[in-house]
Amino acid sequence: MSTVEPVTEHQAPVSAHREDFPILARPMNGRPLAFLDSAASAQKPACVIDAEARCYREYYANIHRGVYQLSQRSTDAYEGARKRVAELLNAPDHREVAFVRGTTEAINLVAHSFVRPQLQPGDEILITGMEHHSNIVPWQLICEETGAKLVVSPVTDTGEVDLEDFRGRLGPRTRFASIAHVSNALGTINPVAEMIAAAREADVPTLVDGAQGVPHMAVDVQALGCDFYCFSGHKLYGPSGVGALWGRFELLRGMRPYQGGGEMIRYVTFEKSDFAPPPQRFEAGTPNIAGAIALGEAVDYVRGIGLERIGAHEQALLAYATERLEAIEGLRIIGNATHKAGVISFVLDGVHPHDIGTILDQEGVAVRAGHHCAQPVMDRFGVPATVRASFGLYNSREDVDALVNALHRVKEFFG
Ligand code: PLP
Repeated sequence: MSTVEPVTEHQAPVSAHREDFPILARPMNGRPLAFLDSAASAQKPACVIDAEARCYREYYANIHRGVYQLSQRSTDAYEGARKRVAELLNAPDHREVAFVRGTTEAINLVAHSFVRPQLQPGDEILITGMEHHSNIVPWQLICEETGAKLVVSPVTDTGEVDLEDFRGRLGPRTRFASIAHVSNALGTINPVAEMIAAAREADVPTLVDGAQGVPHMAVDVQALGCDFYCFSGHKLYGPSGVGALWGRFELLRGMRPYQGGGEMIRYVTFEKSDFAPPPQRFEAGTPNIAGAIALGEAVDYVRGIGLERIGAHEQALLAYATERLEAIEGLRIIGNATHKAGVISFVLDGVHPHDIGTILDQEGVAVRAGHHCAQPVMDRFGVPATVRASFGLYNSREDVDALVNALHRVKEFFG
């Protein structure tokens, strides 16, 4: 077993950053909180909370409009956050990053502004069988409107994409492929670079849903070769209600706006409106200004620790947790891919996941129990729901031990 985290002479272990998160100092039912639900939403470090508060306390004003100093300062901070997100993704140009509400909005934006206008009846959109609902339903909606078809590359028994199957489904009618970087329900890290390369060979543009990718690994959109990449700020230790969509500039430039309103136009008359260039074209109305600024702070925070270090730390925890959970009689892990992020879904014989979640909560262990907005994955594995433990940079072996001990309590309780 690898050590929990690589420790050098000068670096504290990654999990020592737990102290940066005020909420984690609060006991839960008289115990230290073992927060194992970061895949749903991560907790926030003090620097992110402070950055948002500082904006409101010290320099808040609407952006891109005011000639006065406060507005200029807010605008600079907001645009600075855009540059940080571009650097995080290694985007060639910060104008390729649009702030959105989150992954869900980003996918809907691409569906409506890029894909839908091209669709003819009989065209196809390709996804995988392990997508989150937000990478299924937007495509279903535009398929319904246009007569296009949603094609699904199924998940294998181990919870992986079959690359050959995926390749085989890229046909002459495929207009777009949209794939999860990491499955939120199974933890599988998809071979997205290979999938994107296959799609490019077939001349099919791609979107990567990076909601569960960005928090766990360094992402380089240029190396991946995708056309769009999106993520949610709240899973990256940033605020909720803000996220980012990256897209190739030449594609963004040709796209219709997703929403109309202020800030996204160049000139408006009653006859016609002329749209602003990207990214403003996709940021209609007053955005989540303080949220975007705090997301920029979250990006600095994770980059300061190092996404490789965070990823290695979570991998070690995943290995430790897998070993300990597998030793529990009657427990079955759902999703046994070779490459997984720090997400473990499991079921326990004879006990409903919701009951497990409730008892774990009493023991100070926070996990998610349910279908994880991935009902087709539950159907694929023949379970109504799972319990999901997911790791963030602040987790340690103690959290895993607390989970395992609490699961033994569950077993005692249910005999
Ligand atoms: N995609 C994946 C893989 C997710 O895990 C999630 C959230 O859990 C989403 C998309 C949707 O993210 P949001 O609700 O922040 O828009």
